[in-house]
Amino acid sequence: MKRYEEVLHRGYAQSFEVKEIIFQEKTEHQDLVIFDTPTFGRVMALDNIIQVTTRDEYAYHEMMTHVPILAKGDAVKVLIIGGGDGGILREVLRHQAIKHATMVEIDRTVVDLCTQYFPELSDGAFDDERTNLIIADGVKFVAETDQRFDVIIVDSTDPIGPGEVLFSESFYASCHRCLTYGGVLVTQNGVPFFQGDEVSTTYRRMGQSFKDNGFYTTVVPTYCGGIMTLGWGTDDADLRNVDVETLRTRFAAANISTRYYTPDMHRAAFALPQFILDLIK
Ligand code: SAM
Repeated sequence: MKRYEEVLHRGYAQSFEVKEIIFQEKTEHQDLVIFDTPTFGRVMALDNIIQVTTRDEYAYHEMMTHVPILAKGDAVKVLIIGGGDGGILREVLRHQAIKHATMVEIDRTVVDLCTQYFPELSDGAFDDERTNLIIADGVKFVAETDQRFDVIIVDSTDPIGPGEVLFSESFYASCHRCLTYGGVLVTQNGVPFFQGDEVSTTYRRMGQSFKDNGFYTTVVPTYCGGIMTLGWGTDDADLRNVDVETLRTRFAAANISTRYYTPDMHRAAFALPQFILDLIK
């Protein structure tokens, strides 16, 4: 029996039984492999790090999108950095109130292969008239654009390879510049049980630009190690405290069915366990 092993954390690995390798290639930017498994459906890894599986992707894509959009309440224009598989774009565009979604992805091959081999992830989002797909380095885009966005979602790889620049202080400062007043930045920020230094570093770097920054959480089984932290940065400190009744009203108005997000989970996601609070003292 063939297996695929992810060795992201020192001394620890997760191993998948492989039914079939669907595609494997070294793109211009990273090593890409897509394979089928009996337990997690179809899986994509980049540079030997699990990026997405069809079995548990919703827990990540729903919390990275509905939390900032429903907290903000009046978002119209969204920027996605990374997100090549299209899952974030799909969830953003389920909000009819969103009129523009710009997605800046560095690797065209990821978009093309995910559209072909994971059509349910983007679910037609790349063809939505509200989508503006730009193939570029996200750090360059936010440094140079004169556009402003209500929500910025950084669905990056880990701070290894092309994704490393998306965890820098200057990148967060550029994102701050690209937000409308009271806009919100959310970021993929790893699993603190294994990547605690990423939480401390992001907290310090984001704090240089945002009046209110911190983390909220989700749980994605194949981002192994338990709770996953999602970075949160805004100048409107009230956004993290929107009451559950308001969230319920906004969620109902959006008329979106979900498998992980609920207004109560939204509120609960901002409650952090002590070991994470200790990382951001
Ligand atoms: N959900 C996954 C996770 O949490 O690890 C990330 C999924 S998505 C596939 C990550 C995307 O970030 C990839 O498509 C990769 O090409 C893209 N990416 C990495 N560095 C980038 C950069 N500097 N600018 C834009 N996109 C980048």
